[in-house]
Amino acid sequence: MTVDPIARLTLLFARLPGVGEKTAQRLAFYVLKSPAEYASDLAQALLLLRQEVRLCSQCCNLTAQDPCAICKDPLRDARMICVVESVPDLLAVERTREFRGRYHVLHGALSPLDGIGPDQIKLKELLARLHGTGPDESVQEVIIATDPTVEGEATALYITRLVKPHGIRVTRIAQGLPSGADLEYADQITLSRAISGRREL
Ligand SMILES: [Zn+2]
Repeated sequence: MTVDPIARLTLLFARLPGVGEKTAQRLAFYVLKSPAEYASDLAQALLLLRQEVRLCSQCCNLTAQDPCAICKDPLRDARMICVVESVPDLLAVERTREFRGRYHVLHGALSPLDGIGPDQIKLKELLARLHGTGPDESVQEVIIATDPTVEGEATALYITRLVKPHGIRVTRIAQGLPSGADLEYADQITLSRAISGRREL
């Protein structure tokens, strides 16, 4: 790693997704020109991010407080769990304001070719919630909102097989999302319709 502080910060910024070398350099100079307080706030925020953010013990959402704000919210319907692949996907569903239940974040999707099996994603945690051992005994519906990709569909099928025998309703958000797309990038109206038009599996 280079010793020049500007070059070093530029290199680190350039590793961020969507940030090219030019932008990285502009960001580095921006930090340099800003009051010293900004640089220390930024540094502190970066450190705390890794120290304080953990997985919610109930839904596997990322949170600084366990359980997360969604699991803790008494106004949210504990009878419905929306299963998503990632936290950005959870945030995308939240933005639609269509869903007022709880979530489960898998942190991935089944992809045997990439060595990602059921043990590599948060499936055990989902099943534990449904088996009536925790605070989620009352779950009546699992809405599967994995991406409309090969991996997402395989994951949906797998979850259906595991959950349905327990007498819990399993639904899949409607198509209309372009196949192969990432939920995170779906526009709000499309995603909103996909949730309200979910079908029984
Ligand atoms: Zn949670």
